[in-house]
Amino acid sequence: MCAWLLTNMLWQLTVQYVSFMLLFYPSAHKLGEACVAAAAAEAQDRGASSTDTLILCRACGHELALGTDIRSVPSRLALSSRNDTLLGGRRVNVQLFENPHGHRFEVITFRKADVTQHWPADKRFSWFPGFSWTVATCPRCNTHLGWAFQPSDWPDRITKTNFKESEHTFLALITHRLLTEDFASSLLMTPKSFSS
Ligand SMILES: [Zn+2]
Repeated sequence: MCAWLLTNMLWQLTVQYVSFMLLFYPSAHKLGEACVAAAAAEAQDRGASSTDTLILCRACGHELALGTDIRSVPSRLALSSRNDTLLGGRRVNVQLFENPHGHRFEVITFRKADVTQHWPADKRFSWFPGFSWTVATCPRCNTHLGWAFQPSDWPDRITKTNFKESEHTFLALITHRLLTEDFASSLLMTPKSFSS
């Protein structure tokens, strides 16, 4: 009886571990991109509009923005720039930047997103000349998601409303910290082996 219980517990632990690895192991990122691209192709085949795709925090699933909130803001300081179908079938501009510590980030720019901003804004080392930046984090799990940009001639402390209502503000969010709703749904499907 004890041996059976132990085996059962070990099996459950293994299942949990495998599920955890599938969700969080870094290579899942590549898998995610492939799935998102496939879903996008499928949506295009059906002629479906995917402009309202939800974009979520990869760490906790918090709803950050819609596909329609994506806005291209090209910067001459980007190390590279490419178009991708990363997010639900939309062709999005992905730019690569490097910070003063040599860390590189691929970002997508958004007109607005539900993030927590950390003022005061900083004018130094801005990836977008003429704009100062604040760090942007997830309002639910505090993961660092990217940066928010505001005109550098503005005061370094403004309100969230000032930021939201202006046409001159935008955000740059790190691609691999985001997830699209269609990919999240594919993760939540019950594997066949569990349903029998
Ligand atoms: Zn989060």
